Amino acid sequence: MSDHKIRTLRVHRIRIPGKAVHSHGIGDVADIHTVILELGTDTGLTGWGEAAPWPVFTGTAEGAVAALHVYLREHLLGRDPVQVEPIMALVETLLTGHAEAKAALEMALLDLAGKISGLSVSELVGGRMREDMRLSFSVANPDFGKDLEDVAAMWEDGVRIFKMKTGFAGHAFDLMRLEKLRGIYGAEADLRIDYNQGLPTYDAVRCIRDLEAFRPTFVEQPVKMHEREALAHITHVIDTPIMADESVFGVREALYGAQIRMADIFSLKVMKSGGIRRSLEVGAIARAAGIEVYGGCMFETGLAHAAGAHLMAALPDLRLDCEYYMSTYYASEDILTEPFPVRKGRVHVPTGPGLGVEVDPAMLEKYAAEPALG
Ligand SMILES: [Mg+2]
Repeated sequence: MSDHKIRTLRVHRIRIPGKAVHSHGIGDVADIHTVILELGTDTGLTGWGEAAPWPVFTGTAEGAVAALHVYLREHLLGRDPVQVEPIMALVETLLTGHAEAKAALEMALLDLAGKISGLSVSELVGGRMREDMRLSFSVANPDFGKDLEDVAAMWEDGVRIFKMKTGFAGHAFDLMRLEKLRGIYGAEADLRIDYNQGLPTYDAVRCIRDLEAFRPTFVEQPVKMHEREALAHITHVIDTPIMADESVFGVREALYGAQIRMADIFSLKVMKSGGIRRSLEVGAIARAAGIEVYGGCMFETGLAHAAGAHLMAALPDLRLDCEYYMSTYYASEDILTEPFPVRKGRVHVPTGPGLGVEVDPAMLEKYAAEPALG
């Protein structure tokens, strides 16, 4: 028990323009439409959390606002923020779904618990296995010429992992882009593929076999999220590792996925699992099944990236790194007082108590989609 109580809860829904439209198998995205949760204590501390939904994948920003502002507020005020599991277990009895809102709440609670204890969030959830990891950038611009310019600039910055979004403009376009990138950057580039559910099941194996000539490190979510048995079949017949993203949200999908060997890799995201600690539970199931993990993200600011970095820092094994590139390479501007730490193609896990990053309130005002609630 601590001497601190949650006294205020404010919800900010914001929209930050992206530098370009990004095309994904299931939809285009032009901005970061996200929800920032601000918890204040009676002792003057502030804990920050973020709910970053994508309507075609996890849910809506408006839904996350309602979950936090309308449904959870009265159950959170007056509580001791270091009692993270008691609060999250209670919330699970009050509200089904809304994994992003739950992730935002857990993030803000852990941020406060860290500020109270003097520990970073990764230390609070088990300790830091690593201080940095390689960064992956997603090549997803429908204008491939622009993507080539961006990739060249990032190569100069030291980025070597590029995840190409495929399945949104035809198989020939995908093959052409892969051939081009492999031709320019050779074996030093770590190329990965993400279909975002974009392939029809009947033709998926043939399409993926064509891409294998370009030696992708993995192929992510080729088929629809609910086609888990088809995904397992693809995993069994394709040599290149297959990653499940949309098909694995929380522990239940992870357990089923492990039982049917649905994929060789699971993408971990705090927004899918409903928090850092629930993501570690998914990671534990994957580890027991010999399934690799990867640090995925949604369209989010450096705040949620910081939570992701702490999650990945605490995992026992990490070989495929992470994609927390939004605040550095996609957003026109970020909401943090200091840039999210990406240097020489590597994401550095923030140090300092809690999440180790601070939100600039002026940025929340600048990008407000509606007046803050609470
Ligand atoms: Mg994905």
